Amino acid sequence: MSTFDELKLSNPLRNAIEELGFETPTPIQSQSFAVIRSGKDVVGIAQTGTGKTLAFMMPLLMDVKYSKDIHPKILVMAPTRELVLQIAERIEEFAKYINVRVLPIYGGTNINTQKRALADGADIIVATPGRLYDLALNGNVQLKAIKKLVIDEVDVMLDLGFRFQLNNIFELLPEKRQNIMFSATMTEEVDALIDSFFRFPQKIAIAISGTPLDNILQECYAVQNFYTKVNLLKDLIHDKEKYRKVLVFVSNKRSADRLFEALDEDFGNELCVIHSNKTQNYRMRSIEQFDKGVNRILVSTDVMARGIDLDRISHVINFDTPFYPENYMHRIGRTGRAEQKGNSLLFYTEKETAAKERIEELMDYSIPENEFPDGIEIAQQLTPEERPRDAESYVPNQAIDERGPGFHEKKEKNKKVNLGGSYQREIAKKYKKPKTRGDKTYHKRNRTKKKK
Ligand code: ADP
Ligand code: MG
Repeated sequence: MSTFDELKLSNPLRNAIEELGFETPTPIQSQSFAVIRSGKDVVGIAQTGTGKTLAFMMPLLMDVKYSKDIHPKILVMAPTRELVLQIAERIEEFAKYINVRVLPIYGGTNINTQKRALADGADIIVATPGRLYDLALNGNVQLKAIKKLVIDEVDVMLDLGFRFQLNNIFELLPEKRQNIMFSATMTEEVDALIDSFFRFPQKIAIAISGTPLDNILQECYAVQNFYTKVNLLKDLIHDKEKYRKVLVFVSNKRSADRLFEALDEDFGNELCVIHSNKTQNYRMRSIEQFDKGVNRILVSTDVMARGIDLDRISHVINFDTPFYPENYMHRIGRTGRAEQKGNSLLFYTEKETAAKERIEELMDYSIPENEFPDGIEIAQQLTPEERPRDAESYVPNQAIDERGPGFHEKKEKNKKVNLGGSYQREIAKKYKKPKTRGDKTYHKRNRTKKKK
């Protein structure tokens, strides 16, 4: 669908949108319209700036009816006060010719004013979870009439640790309701939330608008493990002329801290990091320093890199391979903006091969692979996640074709990582042999533990 006319909007809504000067619906707007109206649970994944607010409000505003009831029917939740205010303002604009009462609810301001406003009645409330819960517990707002729940920026919400508050609020909502959720990235936490609260949700994913991929040069490297990735990264970004402004993506806070630590010695004063466990001030300072060029390298998680408008990024480095392919699209979209040429590198381990293939399938493009450069040390050090759980079946990471038949037998049971013999040989060629065998200290340590 490509025009607002085709959506058969009500006149009041049509007029308001026309006044805003919007000519055609964005992809997320046209694709989610019918699904949201059908009443099904919906998960919408689309980049920032693709018009998600109107995407969920347009179908919801089609069905609101004038009511004297003071209890809200629609609840929109967003992670920050700024967003709550912004969304409430937008809704007012969209609903300019519709008789609904919209009320923003957020912390850090006088709670009594909000109590009074609630007592007057509201049809749509836009809220941060914390303040809403306080008001609900004190009986200032009754949530039993909510028919539609929208959670906006759910990835940020969960990354900031609001899961608990969300659960509390869900308990106060009627069970029979429509859940609608919007997010720019997929994360494990988002997935878990969907699993526990949604009923057969329909997923609408807008990978990326247009095809900005043409001006992004994509390359990838097969790399043995985390610390070998560190060695490769260090080697590459030592070239300051070429790697002028580098955004390094990792999928979680732990990896962000670990990588930051590993790079600190060599790149200390050129380096900054952001993730959700850092204070707001720290994050803002990091972004500013990176933006101004004070720091050349920024390490960031997927969710936190949002909202940074970075025009002159020379390289996006996918230090790990995103499990959700849409996240890769979002990441590389940070480079190659406007007319500029951008570069993207992807590091993947054997375990991440499947994720890389999902990305390639989504793009319908296979990422050209670079030979692993000579002279880069294959790290023996493993991260806690990389260490095998079971020390008995642990085989030091010698080259695969050197391993005896016993190895293959054991591997056979472990179907998740085992993709068959020829695949292993191929991988063995790609991932160079380690210089010494295995992480011996770790091995020994585990053995002694067992004897106790
Ligand atoms: P998101 O939540 O996806 O980041 P917003 O809902 O904040 O996006 O919208 C981003 C901007 O795009 C806003 O300024 C909004 O007014 C504008 N916008 C939304 N829909 C349209 C449209 N169909 N045509 C033109 N501009 C639009
Ligand atoms: Mg938004």
